[in-house]
Amino acid sequence: MSDNHKTRVFALGLDGATFDLIQPWAQAGKLPTLARLMSAGSWGVLRSVIPPVTMPAWASFITGLSPGNHGLYSFLQRKPGTYNMTPFNASYLQAPDIGSLLNRHGKRVALINVPATYPPKPLDGMVVTGLETPGQTVAYTHPAWLQEELHQRFDYEVERTEKYDPGQEKLFWRAVERVEQKRLEAVLWLMEQDAWDFFAVVFRGTDILGHAFWRFMDPTHPAHDPVLAQEYGDVLLRHYQKMDTAVAQIQAHLLPDDILLLMSDHGFGPIHRDVYIDNVLAQAGLLHMKQTAKARARQMLFQAGLTPHNMLRLLAWLRLRNLSRKLIPQNKRLAVSAGLLLYNSVDWSRTVAYPLGGAGQIFVNLQGREPEGIVESGVAYTAVCDEVERALLALRDPDTGNPVVARVWRKAEAYGTSALPDLPDLYIEWVNDQYTDMGGIGYGRGIFSEPIRGRSGGHTMRGIFLAHGPGIKQGYHVSDASLIDLAPTIMHLLGAPIPAQMDGKVLLDILAEPPTTVVYDDASMAPEAAVYVFSDTEQATIEKRLHDLGYV
Ligand SMILES: [Zn+2]
Repeated sequence: MSDNHKTRVFALGLDGATFDLIQPWAQAGKLPTLARLMSAGSWGVLRSVIPPVTMPAWASFITGLSPGNHGLYSFLQRKPGTYNMTPFNASYLQAPDIGSLLNRHGKRVALINVPATYPPKPLDGMVVTGLETPGQTVAYTHPAWLQEELHQRFDYEVERTEKYDPGQEKLFWRAVERVEQKRLEAVLWLMEQDAWDFFAVVFRGTDILGHAFWRFMDPTHPAHDPVLAQEYGDVLLRHYQKMDTAVAQIQAHLLPDDILLLMSDHGFGPIHRDVYIDNVLAQAGLLHMKQTAKARARQMLFQAGLTPHNMLRLLAWLRLRNLSRKLIPQNKRLAVSAGLLLYNSVDWSRTVAYPLGGAGQIFVNLQGREPEGIVESGVAYTAVCDEVERALLALRDPDTGNPVVARVWRKAEAYGTSALPDLPDLYIEWVNDQYTDMGGIGYGRGIFSEPIRGRSGGHTMRGIFLAHGPGIKQGYHVSDASLIDLAPTIMHLLGAPIPAQMDGKVLLDILAEPPTTVVYDDASMAPEAAVYVFSDTEQATIEKRLHDLGYV
């Protein structure tokens, strides 16, 4: 590509969007913009990353690296040298993002509400940070003056503060729509404020409403409620229709030479069961709890049925009756959420493997890495991995008697041998997407429960990809696209050389004019930002938001 070409790229992210919903709705004439773009562009399933979780997946989008190489593996990360967790932020990324990389080649960028961009970097262009921003009052834009403009003009909100509780459907739905509408108006304005070569925005409503409202749409879901379905059964469709209109509005602001990319970080589907991996490991003798008086007291409470699992169910019942706010102070409600706190009840001297990350990830209690690690690397490490794998593959669904786990991935299989040492050692691939990791330790006594964190929908590996514009094939079905391919593809479309270290490939088959030479360089992929440590208040704000979203 020539140096002076006019191509700009606009990447429009719809968090958790799936063709499983879009395709039938588009065919039925309910999503006219998406239907038009599918026939006039190239599209197909976009394979997510392991794990298909919002934060690691968007981090892969902005780095072109797998989580094994960019380092974000969950919303929370284990603080090195401890068993404690802290929320991830962009400063933990072990690579520069696409904004920095494009800046090196004189390209201006706008990154709006893209997860894994807080704290905002002084890029050549505009940054408005997203999901992991610790509240509305911290500095979340670059340049800094932009924040006041967004506030004055749009009453802009990074994320809504309303939480989904059963019985509060309407309030929650309205709140999500309100925040997304402000975001759209801000984006249409931002598109005109500054020259840009690459503009990325993420709309999160498709994910947030998918978690909360899937059961109303899906009559086969175990938590389906036919009465509430009459009122809320079409919430997801109506939201996708709003986004369909938003895509058309954004497209109307683009120039003839611009390329529009639509994408999601992962797909979406129903969740039927939470799985308590800590108890799988405990029953296999791989994880042990301390036998202190406090731990014994808690076990007695558990035997009386006072598990965090049951407490969450009780809270849901109280919320339905609007009682919880009166009866249970805020800090108690948060404490209930923290199956995380029980990590300090683990007997590390006898524990060889433990779950952490909340997305089917398991760590080996490794000597030299974990503060009280007991497993030597080498043969002993491999033996523990084998034992964990055996225990998980032996799991059977209590209703069907069928296997639950399809495969247990070793880190090197999932990410290659260059994967960072601080990442989880094992990753569960479920036989289907209806199972999900309850996360944490000590939530309940059993192995399985119905989903109890307000989620009836969850993530799948099958995200969406669509490209439309000059030079892009029309009506072409893309069959082998991965999330990690987008950063190199965007750089190629913009005529910038691609760092050879990126894991992804350029999606050449979407281009109408073959052959195109891909230009690589040996640009440094060393991390750029100094580590930013959240204050306790910021950490609490984020953990509350993640809990309110049902993520932790
Ligand atoms: Zn997501």
